[in-house]
Amino acid sequence: MTTCRTTEPDGTRAIGRAIGQAAQPGDVILLAGDLGAGKTVLTQGIGQGLGVEAAVNSPTFVLLHEYHGRLPLYHYDLYRLENLETTVGREWEEFLYGSGVSVVEWANRAAAWLPSEHLLIEFTIESETVRTLRLTASGARHLELLSAVQCS
Ligand code: ADP
Ligand code: MG
Repeated sequence: MTTCRTTEPDGTRAIGRAIGQAAQPGDVILLAGDLGAGKTVLTQGIGQGLGVEAAVNSPTFVLLHEYHGRLPLYHYDLYRLENLETTVGREWEEFLYGSGVSVVEWANRAAAWLPSEHLLIEFTIESETVRTLRLTASGARHLELLSAVQCS
């Protein structure tokens, strides 16, 4: 377990960038925390680290957005998820267990459905510009991914 504290969006983005640079096919990064905590900002950094050129934003009306970088980036945002069974198709699972990198915002809304091997990042809003990120890895591969994160 690692705890990082950031004092501006770029600090959170930099952590994402380190994760994106070290990411390997099949990695799964689960994000939890309140609205405005910085989950999308972190995902932008992961996109940068993967060499995604398109702007990564909240997929407001879709639950999944795919970006193309060094590896495919599958950006899930489950904020609007109402019913897992009826909303989520098979292809979603294939992405999660495939050879891209998956990032899931609001992962707590579908915890049971998500892979048990993952890097979990829990955000806490400390003040307007301060965030605490608690990173917990499950499985050897994600422990290695976690070791790429240096809190500054
Ligand atoms: P979420 O996806 O968790 O709902 P966003 O990433 O969309 O949140 O938004 C985070 C908001 O908080 C942005 O407006 C960002 O500029 C602001 N912010 C302020 N300080 C930080 C910080 N240290 N890390 C990340 N975002 C921050
Ligand atoms: Mg978001």
